[in-house]
Amino acid sequence: MEKLFERSIRDASKLMNLTEDDHDLFQRVDRACDELLIPEFEKYMERKYNDKVPEVLKKHHLMGIPISKKYGGDGARPLVHSLAIERFGQLGLGVVTFVDVHQSLGSLTIQEWGTEEQKQRYLTKAATGEIVLAYALTEPEAGSDPGSLKTQFRKDGSDYYLTGSKYLISNGSVADRLIVFAYPEGQTKGMTAFLVDAREKGFAVDMKLEEKMGLFTSDTAMLSFDDLRVPRDDIIGEEGRGLAVAYSALLNGRIGIASGCLGVMEDCLNQVKERTSSRMQHGKAIGKHQLIQRHIARISSNLESSRWLVYQAALKKEDYENNKADLGLRSEADRISAVAKYVASKAAFDSADSAVQCFGGFGYSILSPVAKHLIDTRVARIYEGTDEVMELKIASTVLGKEFEAYR
Ligand SMILES: Cc1cc2nc3c(=O)[nH]c(=O)nc-3n(C[C@H](O)[C@H](O)[C@H](O)COP(=O)(O)OP(=O)(O)OC[C@H]3O[C@@H](n4cnc5c(N)ncnc54)[C@H](O)[C@@H]3O)c2cc1C
Repeated sequence: MEKLFERSIRDASKLMNLTEDDHDLFQRVDRACDELLIPEFEKYMERKYNDKVPEVLKKHHLMGIPISKKYGGDGARPLVHSLAIERFGQLGLGVVTFVDVHQSLGSLTIQEWGTEEQKQRYLTKAATGEIVLAYALTEPEAGSDPGSLKTQFRKDGSDYYLTGSKYLISNGSVADRLIVFAYPEGQTKGMTAFLVDAREKGFAVDMKLEEKMGLFTSDTAMLSFDDLRVPRDDIIGEEGRGLAVAYSALLNGRIGIASGCLGVMEDCLNQVKERTSSRMQHGKAIGKHQLIQRHIARISSNLESSRWLVYQAALKKEDYENNKADLGLRSEADRISAVAKYVASKAAFDSADSAVQCFGGFGYSILSPVAKHLIDTRVARIYEGTDEVMELKIASTVLGKEFEAYR
């Protein structure tokens, strides 16, 4: 029987022409996922960051999937990148978080906003995995409202010095370079994005945040900067354009998380199919009981209703990339990526819950793969924009800018 990922590739080929390079990429992603399956579960059991992810991705030349070929990546178009992340999603959101942060929030932001010199210097290394990237916007007092962040910078000649702290940063303690957002000293306007070197004096990992309810295999850290030097050449985008940089990164990131959620639902469906065909109760396979079939129908419907939406978001993003002067296309891509992330993350969590129910008591054991999805997937409704922030954003696109409730 055709595997769910093969079906996704077949469906995507009806939406765009897939090249031989794309098919080669999908095979490499598939092989990497097969290799990561057991280590990912072992690390989850140990409650440890899965350091095999960058290792295996490097081995299969997968660190730079969306990075242009000019800088050593695969140059994958948005829908192809989305499909690759969908496949990683079958392993769970721990793997997806690493990939999405390094590629969508990190590499694509440098690709979109960086100077040619920055692209030559950093994207080439991000594509080979020589450097790992992170994105540091959130602070202890600035989450849904990034405008209230407290990290500040001062200028001295051609250098900038950052002071402040960042909270809940994925890849935070393993990244070599981090996109950090800060205001000019004493001001609450003019946010600027800096590409910080984690080896620079004044950079500290204050704490690895390991007391999470799930997502153990993803690295999360609290960071601080004490008069940390950043040369002017490492500003991403122009000085003062930080908020625009942050939001454009989130547009890419949300499509990535939504794509990963599709993979989670696919794995839930695969796991439930196997379990409900083999587990016998009341004299027959539990899959033959109609109320169990309801759960299966629910997971399948969740997956189908999210799938096309996520693909549409990727295609809308490509429309915008092909015509960057058209701001209408940008806001449409932004809107659909928010809808896709909102719908797919809720659908994935609901599917993991249904899968746990089908597994019964074993589903409640941390040894079951579906329990891992349940606790890992919850975060998708929080990071890169909470459910509520997505709702406000979507509603304001219906009502009009003057109704923006979170400004
Ligand atoms: C595991 C993990 C990894 C993460 N990785 C990163 C990362 O790599 N980089 C990064 O920068 N951040 C990261 N984050 C942070 C994440 O993006 C924030 O947690 C998220 O944006 C919410 O911010 P907050 O936690 O401060 O919650 P708050 O903003 O305090 O929100 C609390 C509640 O209030 C609601 N709320 C807030 N404002 C409004 C409003 N105007 N109207 C209605 N409801 C509202 C929220 O929706 C939420 O339900 C990560 C978080 C987690 C848990």
